[in-house]
Amino acid sequence: MSSPQGFARGPVARSGAGVLGIYAESSSAPSDGLVFDPDTGEVKSDGWSYAAALVERYALQAQARKSMLEQWYRDGKQGKAHRVTRCRRWLRPRGKGQVPYAEVYRHVDTGRAFFSGTEICASAWACPVCSAKIAERRAEEIRRAVDAWIAEGGICLFVTLTVPHELVDALAPMVQRFRRALQLFRGGRGGKAINDALASIGLVRAMETTWGDEHGFHPHSHEIWFCRPGRVPLDDIIARWQDSAQAAGFQRPHDLYGVRVKVAESSEQAAAALADYLTKLGKELLEDGRPLWGVAEEIAKAHSKRGRFRSMTPFDFLRAQYDPQVSPDQRARFRELFAEYVAAFKGVAQVYWSRGLKARFEVEDRTDEETAEESRESADRLARLDIEEWERLFARRSDHRASLLIIAQNGGADALRSFVDSLPPLLLVIPHDQAAIPSLHPGQ
Ligand SMILES: [Zn+2]
Repeated sequence: MSSPQGFARGPVARSGAGVLGIYAESSSAPSDGLVFDPDTGEVKSDGWSYAAALVERYALQAQARKSMLEQWYRDGKQGKAHRVTRCRRWLRPRGKGQVPYAEVYRHVDTGRAFFSGTEICASAWACPVCSAKIAERRAEEIRRAVDAWIAEGGICLFVTLTVPHELVDALAPMVQRFRRALQLFRGGRGGKAINDALASIGLVRAMETTWGDEHGFHPHSHEIWFCRPGRVPLDDIIARWQDSAQAAGFQRPHDLYGVRVKVAESSEQAAAALADYLTKLGKELLEDGRPLWGVAEEIAKAHSKRGRFRSMTPFDFLRAQYDPQVSPDQRARFRELFAEYVAAFKGVAQVYWSRGLKARFEVEDRTDEETAEESRESADRLARLDIEEWERLFARRSDHRASLLIIAQNGGADALRSFVDSLPPLLLVIPHDQAAIPSLHPGQ
């Protein structure tokens, strides 16, 4: 994820164009594949680029699974492996005495196909498939609240809080200290004074981390503060963040980089800032239209000229698994880092709304689980796959889930059926390294 360089200190100029302009343009440039709907805030893509994104998500999920299985083995196979290892792969148990099966559905209006009857991990942090779905929904909710607030005459402050880089630090304690700093920042008399000065009614916060080989992990927070128009006490905000971060055990954040604030006073400014914000929140979503071969480009960005890695997102660790320029040792290291990241953010909300804010904007309080689950309402059932057919999707070290969904989307029930029939039968002898992987046996 790119660093929030676009963030200015203090009020922004009325430049309006911003990232939104790019997406607005893309609706008239079909080759780009992204269609931005300014009314709903949805980013849609044409069939081809959606298919490419789907392939990428499943490819990345396979690597997330590998990372978490390796971690599970390192931990001596205690308990269960992370649920992303089973996501849309293991079949859900049916009723007593019933054999599990999978189904394929297609939404009537979007034409997107999806599985039913499988486990779903709903992990916004670990799962590239689920997180895309969750980010899409969260983006829509945030956009709705920001639009409503600006329409009421409020202003939004887009605030990024960072701490100085600290090499060699394990991520989990750093995340804990960062959350402590956020607590100190908001709490106490100082926090209240800032809130009062801004006449703030609440905030939405998204936490994330990047990683670079020079400085290791770098957690930070992107927030939207819902405030009334007036003077922004920027110096107080900066000083309070510096004090809070220091009290939580970090080095004192820099005067210029610790806090970045962008003020959106008009719907135009809000739209631009929001597009930028949502890119950070749901990168996978907004780059939906990027074809799979964009992966190399992405990695190239993360490599500096000296061949180092900087500002990688956790999903970049997974992308790097497909990059022949990244050595096998480095790839193994990235898989470990991915597992470390997943563990460090366990139990942390990826998007947090301060108390009462959702209700204020009539945003339904839906869990990630509810969000990740596809609704079968207004969807047609295209096929039912029995266990043997389902397992054939994974036969011989393959993973045909994305292909199957794309074929179902484009060709419907008949095409789907002939694709499944064309898959090689299961091998009688399962190679020993795969036999150890429980997912080959759904229902176990
Ligand atoms: Zn998942």
